[in-house]
Amino acid sequence: MSTVQLGMPGVRPQHASPVSTLRGERGFPEAAREALGDATLRANMRHATSTIQAKRAGAVREVRDWQKLRSAGSALKWQVTDHLPELLEQLEESVAAAGGVVHWARDAEEASEIVTRLALERDAREVLKVKSMATQEIGLNEALAHAGIRAIESDLAELIVQLADDTPSHILVPAIHRNRAEIREIFLAAMPDLDPSITDDPAELAEAARRFLREKFLDMPGSVAICGANFAVAETGTLVVVESEGNGRMCLTLPRTLISVVGIEKIVPTFQDLEVFLQLLPRSSTGERMNPYTTLFTGVHEGDGPEEFHLVLLDNGRSSVLEDPEGRSALHCIRCSACLNVCPVYARTGGHAYGSTYPGPIGAILSPQMTGMSGTDDPNSTLPYASSLCGACYDVCPVKIDIPEILVHLRAKDVDRRREARGEFHGSWDLALKGASRLMSSPRAYDLAVRSAKPLSSLLPGANIGRLPGALPIIPGWTDHRDLPSPPQSFRSWWDEREKERVARGPEGPASDGPGENGRARSADGPAPDGDASAAGTPDGEERP
Ligand code: SF4
Repeated sequence: MSTVQLGMPGVRPQHASPVSTLRGERGFPEAAREALGDATLRANMRHATSTIQAKRAGAVREVRDWQKLRSAGSALKWQVTDHLPELLEQLEESVAAAGGVVHWARDAEEASEIVTRLALERDAREVLKVKSMATQEIGLNEALAHAGIRAIESDLAELIVQLADDTPSHILVPAIHRNRAEIREIFLAAMPDLDPSITDDPAELAEAARRFLREKFLDMPGSVAICGANFAVAETGTLVVVESEGNGRMCLTLPRTLISVVGIEKIVPTFQDLEVFLQLLPRSSTGERMNPYTTLFTGVHEGDGPEEFHLVLLDNGRSSVLEDPEGRSALHCIRCSACLNVCPVYARTGGHAYGSTYPGPIGAILSPQMTGMSGTDDPNSTLPYASSLCGACYDVCPVKIDIPEILVHLRAKDVDRRREARGEFHGSWDLALKGASRLMSSPRAYDLAVRSAKPLSSLLPGANIGRLPGALPIIPGWTDHRDLPSPPQSFRSWWDEREKERVARGPEGPASDGPGENGRARSADGPAPDGDASAAGTPDGEERP
């Protein structure tokens, strides 16, 4: 039972609301099969993921204490997880003290309703947006459109996706599934003033997007802009947005009203903690030493930047993720996308097969936890199986989220849930394991069982235990093809004898060094000679949590 207070202060944990873009219409196997049939998509994905992956590896190699940085990032995230309600209240006070207004949103509907109301109250018919996963997750653009407000994406990749009436397929590079020839076609179709002689040269395409957006920026003063945040500092009320193009900074500084929608897990305790994350994030995401644009803003300041600042703190299922001690570290994610780029599954299927705003390995553990896995045909219950469990995602994660472990945990939950739904009787395997678990958790019962087994073992022929009778559960199947050396002595009786000897010898006598004739010799201060000290570590030498 967790001792951690959960989520937003005073809010009962609940799953993400159904309007969230966290669940596709098909299960992963079916969607992946279709994606694998698209040769262009596979080529685009292979080229893009391998390029980013190589860049990241080079940037990480430059940092000699990278593993220590990862550990620091992980420790800070656990600190946030353990003190989330207090930190959120501290953030609210800090933002209010700096002249901002904090709104609490339990789910996607509440968050969209708050943002839409704020925009309508300011007569906004168009709003500019900074790239933000949280606003995608709550379907904000659609909610705004429903209220007659047009949202314009200012991030180049998001703009491509929006103009193509498409959906993002990568956390960092939403249009990763498109090549430049496709982007040229999209621009020609969506920008009526564009010169048709434009080529698919990236510089020409970027220039076209720049001209298109600059017109929007000219209308910015007196308008409304909407952003997310990479980090929110509880101590100071500062929000941090990192980006590569500078369009985000225009949106953060030019409008009269700035509204930021931020997931409650994005909090960091102190301003100094940013030194860790601002080293980890750029190298892990774009493979850069630092992001070209890192904007930090705290409340409002007369004559400098927006006159109004609203912070919408979003739960939408995060509290329910926090409820699970084995799955909650999924909330530590800083959305760098490194795990996507190394994942052999993601690199072949692309992001749409996951059906959620959050694709790839992090999406496979985050989406099912945020939405819950319900019914026997819930598409999100297939996501934990969308992995070969190779462990590459853990090795690159800058905050050391053990994604493979959480995947296995979610698979177990899914299997249990399905069996319960079928009303299945627990088979002999379950019964045997439950019995063994009870036995091993009680020293007295275990001791009794070992002592009772001793007379039985003396009846066994020879030094090996061979095939055992079929009436016992599981055991016959196991012993059909395996021989087990018959133990000459139980560990407990060996230990008792050893203790008696030691007492008889007095404090100076040498210790016995083995559990009997079949036992392995063991040095007094080291592992068994064949013990593999590296077995507990990962390939990069880092011990798993
Ligand atoms: S899980 Fe780790 S590697 Fe994956 S996006 Fe999040 S922080 Fe990056």
